[in-house]
Amino acid sequence: LMVLTKKLIEVRNLLKTVDNNAKMTLPSIVVVGSQSSGKSSVLEAIVGHEFLPKGTNMVTRRPIELTLIHTPNAKEEFAEFPQLGLGKVHDFKDVQKTLTDLNLAVPDSECVSDSPIELRVHSPNVPDLTLVDLPGYIQIHNRNQPAELKEKIADLCERYIREPNIILAVCSADVDLANSEALRASRKVDPAGRRTIGVVTKMDLVEQDAGVGILTNRDYPLQLGYVGVVCKKTGAGVDSQAIVRSEDAFFGANPAYRANRVMVGTATLRHRLMEVLEDHMGKSLRSISDAVQSELDEARYQFKVHYNDRRISAESYVAESIDSLKQSFKEFAKQFGKPQVREEVRRMLERRLLEISRDVYWTDPRVATLPRLCIADADEWRARLDAASGALTKSGVGRSSVQLVADVLMENMERLTSTEPWVHHAEGRAKVLDFSSELLRGKLNTTVDQVENTIKPYKFEVECTELEWQEGQKRAVATLEKQLADAQNALQGIKSTTGRRTLRNAVKHVQKMERDAAAARKGNNNSNNNNNNNNNNNNNIPTKEAASPGDAHSSSSPPPPLLISDDLSVMDSGMSPSLLARARQALELQTSLSLLQTRVAATRSRQCAVSENKQCCPEVFLSVVAEKLTYTAVMFIWVELLNEFFFQLPREIDNQLYYDLSRAEIMRFAKENPVVRRHLEVQEKKRTLEVVMEKLRELNRKR
Ligand code: GDP
Repeated sequence: LMVLTKKLIEVRNLLKTVDNNAKMTLPSIVVVGSQSSGKSSVLEAIVGHEFLPKGTNMVTRRPIELTLIHTPNAKEEFAEFPQLGLGKVHDFKDVQKTLTDLNLAVPDSECVSDSPIELRVHSPNVPDLTLVDLPGYIQIHNRNQPAELKEKIADLCERYIREPNIILAVCSADVDLANSEALRASRKVDPAGRRTIGVVTKMDLVEQDAGVGILTNRDYPLQLGYVGVVCKKTGAGVDSQAIVRSEDAFFGANPAYRANRVMVGTATLRHRLMEVLEDHMGKSLRSISDAVQSELDEARYQFKVHYNDRRISAESYVAESIDSLKQSFKEFAKQFGKPQVREEVRRMLERRLLEISRDVYWTDPRVATLPRLCIADADEWRARLDAASGALTKSGVGRSSVQLVADVLMENMERLTSTEPWVHHAEGRAKVLDFSSELLRGKLNTTVDQVENTIKPYKFEVECTELEWQEGQKRAVATLEKQLADAQNALQGIKSTTGRRTLRNAVKHVQKMERDAAAARKGNNNSNNNNNNNNNNNNNIPTKEAASPGDAHSSSSPPPPLLISDDLSVMDSGMSPSLLARARQALELQTSLSLLQTRVAATRSRQCAVSENKQCCPEVFLSVVAEKLTYTAVMFIWVELLNEFFFQLPREIDNQLYYDLSRAEIMRFAKENPVVRRHLEVQEKKRTLEVVMEKLRELNRKR
């Protein structure tokens, strides 16, 4: 019984799943022969199917490593390409097509490639064999083929026919064996003919006596002998039964073959191949066992030294990664409470409050009279306050606050997924971010509507208690002071990068330019108004304006004292545009500093400590409104958006990252992490080699 070949083929396929450097190659039968010697026909007769590429244009360009697996009780026959992962292929026409495509993928300019195509055939009708089909030897090239093609093919074949492989040298009966390329190549590597089988095809083309002469060849003796076959196709397609029948009929009709006890027929060839392979497998068993053992020792050593014999599994790694994500999410959720959310929304509304104050109040010079002189114009200031408050309540607080919180959540999801181990899992990370934003998107619009609905009353009226007012005053002062400090820092920054003296001169220069420009404007205005020029004094119109600065020219009022210097001598330019820009910026900051200083003082004043004259303290009132909006908005954002998100996200993580993954996906995920991949690989290798070693030991025992 041919158990050894079967077991060792299993062993070989196992060894292929781990990368290994030991010389654990098991013997295969390598088929060589000249083009048109009948190589394909012999292989197809062995397999019992037509499956090899056909055509005149060099259709075998890559080695085909063919593994035949005998499945005695199986009902179906199928082929598979383990490298392609296509699954079972039942139709051998498809096998032929795939092989043709894989071969023709090698460009004409190269013509042959070293990289083998793996093909396995599982069938109750095949013996356990491993065969390699190689491109046929060529005599002459056609003009599209590269000049060195002949050598390339010969080199490729030579590599495959080395020890421990068995050489199947295919020769055609109608060609003198002395001219057989296959035998010539075999003699080079196997001069004693110990591991070469001669297959003589097309026996039907020679007379039986000549045929017997070839098969009992004494000029080129082979210890494994010659087998004569007839693989001629009968009619369209390949009917293996019909071929065997016609072959049997042929040899039956030529009694000289039986009389001389030479080996003939495909069935004999198959049997002979099984015997020879089994025999060689037996001879290789010892050396393979040794090689596997030393490879296993090495793997065990690696596993001990690098991983201290600690076993891991892809599943546990995935589970741990998910747990750590859920854990860090939980921590984030814990510290991102209502006060933190309020803080975010409050900051946004404070920015808006400052914008509105600037637009509605600060650009008006009369703001300087607030709060002292506002009681008189109470109605007008009240109307303004309503406008300012409306600008705040009707500024789309619902959408912006909800969006703000959603953005903060997404930022945090990005942060949580950009640490170990998630940095290694771009796809998993993208998935987490996807369903996080999906979850938020699903809640966004309803939350916006809720918030807008509940703040609606404030769009008409905002009432507040004295306590709320006092809090508002504190906050407004703090907000303005913060602005003030920012402006001071910015100014300080400009001063220190530019140098005080340089800046002072630049500022003076800018101021002078502005004065000149203003004067020029005024001059133009005058000349226009006068329909003439003001140098001309012979008309009656008095030119009084030129001398008296009008009260409307508050914009050209004296510059802030801080930057003024008596030293007006260096007015020469040669100043860079960037310096001048900084000077202008400094001037602007200076202006807003003094404005903010007065606003802080006004807001802090005793008149603003009570709510009685709201219209006189707009910043305080706006702060009260902003706070009410903040509380209301956050209340609903909390219920509608955050609670839901915090509750559902961990469940989504479990569902989408763990329960939905197949075994292969879990493995792929784990191996994305290079540290885990190396660990798993060493561990797998060790385990596989242990299984292999166990099988080999058993085989050794039986012999
Ligand atoms: P390859 O190029 O070596 O693979 O050769 P093929 O198997 O394609 O065969 C070349 C040609 O020889 C084809 O036309 C086959 O039909 C023919 N042929 C193969 N085997 C036999 C045989 O036993 N007898 C005869 N008469 N022709 C054969």
